[in-house]
Amino acid sequence: MPLFINRDQIFAHQVHLLEHKLRSKEERLLELETENAILHLRLAECLGKLHLGHEEKTKALAHHQHHRNAEKITQSALTKLLSEVQALKQDLSEVFAVYVSFANELEEQSKQLLKKVDQASLTLRDHNGDEVHDLQARVEALEHSLEEEKERCRAERQRRKELHNTLVELRGNIRVHCRVRPVLPIDNIQFSGPGPAPSEEVVYAISDDTVVVNCLKTGMPVQNKIFEFERVHGPEDSQDDVFEDIKPLLTSLLDGYNVCIMAYGQTGSGKTHTMIGSQPLGEHSGTKQEAQQGIIPKAAAELFRLISEKPAESHTVEVSVMEVYNNEVFDLLARDEQGNAVSQQRDVITTSSGTSQVTSLTSEPVFSASEVMQIVSRVLKLRAHCNTLVHTDSSRSHLIVTLTISSKSPNALALARRLQNAKKDMQRSTQREFWSPRCHRANPAARNSPDKLFGSPSNSPCLSPSPSPCPSPGRTTSPTPFRTKLQLVDLAGSECVGISGVSGAALWEVSCINRSLSALSDVLGALAEQRPHVPYRNSKVTHLLQDAIGGDAKLLVMLCVSPTQRFITESLQSLGFGTRARQVQKVLPRRKNNTLKDK
Ligand code: ADP
Ligand code: MG
Repeated sequence: MPLFINRDQIFAHQVHLLEHKLRSKEERLLELETENAILHLRLAECLGKLHLGHEEKTKALAHHQHHRNAEKITQSALTKLLSEVQALKQDLSEVFAVYVSFANELEEQSKQLLKKVDQASLTLRDHNGDEVHDLQARVEALEHSLEEEKERCRAERQRRKELHNTLVELRGNIRVHCRVRPVLPIDNIQFSGPGPAPSEEVVYAISDDTVVVNCLKTGMPVQNKIFEFERVHGPEDSQDDVFEDIKPLLTSLLDGYNVCIMAYGQTGSGKTHTMIGSQPLGEHSGTKQEAQQGIIPKAAAELFRLISEKPAESHTVEVSVMEVYNNEVFDLLARDEQGNAVSQQRDVITTSSGTSQVTSLTSEPVFSASEVMQIVSRVLKLRAHCNTLVHTDSSRSHLIVTLTISSKSPNALALARRLQNAKKDMQRSTQREFWSPRCHRANPAARNSPDKLFGSPSNSPCLSPSPSPCPSPGRTTSPTPFRTKLQLVDLAGSECVGISGVSGAALWEVSCINRSLSALSDVLGALAEQRPHVPYRNSKVTHLLQDAIGGDAKLLVMLCVSPTQRFITESLQSLGFGTRARQVQKVLPRRKNNTLKDK
């Protein structure tokens, strides 16, 4: 243990003790303060209770006073309100009295008015009933007579049509049908110039015999050009509709007439679509495809249908197919020495009977329409085609499909026609000054021999083997077949070089096509004007079709027309061609002068 005590430690100990005392004093102080506060609170509570008692007494007094005052005010206000309510009640009863009197008056007036209306409507009904009845009766009568008129008009139109057809038949007119095709994607070309747009529709089939062309020129009023034909088909007419109007011609075939159906029109106007159809032929035989078939397959089917109604094996049919390309005739059924299909050139000659004939033309016997179409679709691959700006598959040649029908037992009508033709030929030979310039000049032998006078030209019903002399009328019961021809022609399209965009060798093709078509137009012009000279030989196609165009065959021209502004010039040209064709009268002697020469 140390002997002396550290002073610092003592001080520290004392400080510690003092601090301890201080802390306990402070704690006591805190306790006393708390007690003090509690006592204060209690005091305040007691004081508060004393004070509240006094205040409540004063408040109750004031409230009593206030209540008495308010009662006084309310009483006076209530008295005032009561008097006002009584005044209002008074007013209301007055207004109500006015309202009641008004309502009574109104009711009275409306009763009177209703009475008047009833009376008025009663008199009106009595008065007008008869008039309305009369009017109804008149309307019914008018409707009835309108219906009658319509029926009469329909009958008259039908009669007019029949008479027109008879007239056409008697006069030997060329029948012209026209088909306006629909607007197609090929018509929609880019255009950004002034004037009418090229894709604008301007050719319309407005009725079943009238076409209208709107001739549009910038800054000029629209001019309408109207063309009439035997039959006009619009864009909505189907292949069946077109064929329906051609069908009767096929009956004529078995009655001894030669028939020729020729499609004419500008490239892309629908000739091949109309004549052959748009589907590849002979590959399928669905109904839809049949509906798309053109005149050639439909005519073949109709022909075999008509033959099937005749006695079995009484008729035989042969087919030949030619094309005229660059003014040369090609036999599309020819075969080379190995038997391969080749297109061979042939000549057109005028026979001793004055008719045109193709030398060594191949023909194949056929026994059904599908056989005809198999042959046609086979040879179509040999046909000249080319791409132009107008048409991606433009035919560059005139295609002629000929069906020759030989009949072992011609019907009475056919025999009558043969006799008629023979008689006509005889008359021509005895009255040579009245001959048609076309007939028999190239056949002096025929003129001299009465027996040979019955040698019918190929456009008339003739005997096989043609053109050898036919038997005299006395020998009409001979089993020698009686022959008639159905020629179906898909002409190449006329075209404007600028539009079709052809060049090089194709230019020569176009020039040949255009020249042959204008030769056709010249022939029709000469026939229509009954000119002494008909220039058949200016082109192979006219020479070849001479008998169909100028003879007494029934010729139908199917004009095909594009509907848009872009081809308006060609369309007008085609329609003009059709109009000229209608004016041709083929059977009547054109000029009674036997010295005139046919070229
Ligand atoms: P063309 O033989 O006159 O040059 P096409 O017959 O080949 O013309 O027709 C040209 C195009 O127009 C073809 O694609 C054809 O299918 C179409 N066409 C023509 N006529 C019609 C029509 N009436 N309806 C629908 N398409 C048609
Ligand atoms: Mg064509």
